[in-house]
Amino acid sequence: MKLFSRLHERCFCAFCKTPRRMYAKKHVDLTNVVATSFLATAVTYAYFGQPDPRGLVLFCLFIIASEIFVYSRWRNSTVCKLCGFDPLIYKRSPAAAAAKVREFFVKNSSDPRFHLTRSPLNEIQRLKRKGERKQADLKFMQAKMVAARTSSLTPTKSP
Ligand SMILES: [Zn+2]
Repeated sequence: MKLFSRLHERCFCAFCKTPRRMYAKKHVDLTNVVATSFLATAVTYAYFGQPDPRGLVLFCLFIIASEIFVYSRWRNSTVCKLCGFDPLIYKRSPAAAAAKVREFFVKNSSDPRFHLTRSPLNEIQRLKRKGERKQADLKFMQAKMVAARTSSLTPTKSP
């Protein structure tokens, strides 16, 4: 167990290659244990007025709570906020990680606030819309050409 551990680290998302910061501290360190023991001692003295063995139970509860907090904070920071890629899920199952990114994309593609972020998924969304617009224009032009041909082929009645 280290005395101090680094809190943040800079890294790149493995999927969208965006530079980002994530929590590097995965577990409680010695400083947290010492601070928790002081807290448990203070609470024990405040509540019981003297040293009490129930303070050890409090200490264990505080350590468990702080470990849960630190680990869940680290776990939440591993997921990329811009593309939804989770490297831990990818290690277990690449298909599940791809499904998560797809779900993130579908969920956020309709949110206008997400379009203001610097997510690389916005570029994909923009290309997708551009393709859809191109297809719609192409269909419109084809319908117009068909209409022009049919009108030129049908004989017009002369007065
Ligand atoms: Zn990413």
